[in-house]
Amino acid sequence: MTEQSNEGEAGLQLPEMIRSYDPLVCCLCGSRDATTLLECLTGRGMTSDSRIVRRNLKKVQCARCGLVRDGLPFAASELEQHYSANYTLNVAKSGEEHFFYSASGAMARSRLLRDWILALKPETKWRAGMRVLEVGCGQGSLLSQLRGSFPSAHFYGIDLSADAVALANAKGLNVRQGGLETLAGEEYDLIIAFGVLEHVPNPQTFLAQVRELLSDDGEAIVGQPMQNVPSYDIFFVDHLHHFTTDHVRFLAERAGFAEIGHLASHPSILNFSLHHLRKSRPVPDATLPNASASKCAQAIKTYRGIFSALDDALAKLEDDERIAVFGTGEVFTLLYTYSNLYTVKIVCGLDDNADRRVNHNWPFPVSSPDQAKAFGASTILLCVNTMYNQLLLSRISELGLNPLRVLYMSEKLEEGWLSAPMSVSALAQMVEATGGRLG
Ligand SMILES: [Zn+2]
Repeated sequence: MTEQSNEGEAGLQLPEMIRSYDPLVCCLCGSRDATTLLECLTGRGMTSDSRIVRRNLKKVQCARCGLVRDGLPFAASELEQHYSANYTLNVAKSGEEHFFYSASGAMARSRLLRDWILALKPETKWRAGMRVLEVGCGQGSLLSQLRGSFPSAHFYGIDLSADAVALANAKGLNVRQGGLETLAGEEYDLIIAFGVLEHVPNPQTFLAQVRELLSDDGEAIVGQPMQNVPSYDIFFVDHLHHFTTDHVRFLAERAGFAEIGHLASHPSILNFSLHHLRKSRPVPDATLPNASASKCAQAIKTYRGIFSALDDALAKLEDDERIAVFGTGEVFTLLYTYSNLYTVKIVCGLDDNADRRVNHNWPFPVSSPDQAKAFGASTILLCVNTMYNQLLLSRISELGLNPLRVLYMSEKLEEGWLSAPMSVSALAQMVEATGGRLG
């Protein structure tokens, strides 16, 4: 996979606060006392939009409040790499969106987020004429969903990516390029920020800026990865902070919000929490979070175990093994960044959206699964969230791919990698007999 450059984005003014990240001080409690949780000095780091960049990974945990943060300083050029035109999470091609799969079918990320937000702030609480701003809105998928649900409200967005803003504008959305400071003096009734707080250098400053833009009875909804459960986003070099729900509540209180409520662990995105905040008075003596609630250390141990178990499994394969990977998204990128997977020859990747832009970066062809027979894979490696194991084992069987073995992560992650070394028909029977719980 090629590392990305910043060509074509000269002149982008990054917010001053982004330049000022200080890895030596906890932004939440001010303590300088911290322990190193994770250090990976290979010069290979994964970003949250599934790119591999030249950066070491270091995460430290505050000894006082338990907040985990990035332990390395950022050069201005690296920050631009993170937040400028290359930031592709919600951009890609127009209309291209992440889908979650469940027993009831596929659901677009934006639809899922809209439903989750409405579970927290019910439809009856949305007023006609209210002004709603989404910070970090990408190409505007969530804004479109909300506009469809509340045509009498006014929707606005901002994003740092020029590409994303252009796509959002093409949908007729009122979206501008920039950070919060570009909105100074404006007023909104509701500000939504999903997947933003973990990226900003100073989350408390960010929340205070959000508060400045709110009307007197204004509200905010913030959603981000949550460390009350083990989450592999600890391996993302562009997630500067790793919060528990308690850390978010504390930050919000200090910044001048009261928490109306929060939801944690959506069934399709278990490691996220969504917080509903009401403008209030800052609470300078808010109760410090319980430092032991963070599961970051456990996540690191679990996923390092998965990486090394994969290395062991790969070492046992023959040199002329024809390896195909099923799934070329986030889980694959995680494995490709931090295990030895990038050192083995992969004959093809299988992806339902084979022509996604990110798939052009891999040093192997990416094909749709129904074309996969042509590659004659002898081993298929499932590189997906374990909740999709059963689905993919069934599909491999239906497609008649006939590999010698399928390697997949156990749903009990600490068990590492399992192998189904059998014929496809036997595999199908096994999936049926166990209800998919092969682990
Ligand atoms: Zn702290």
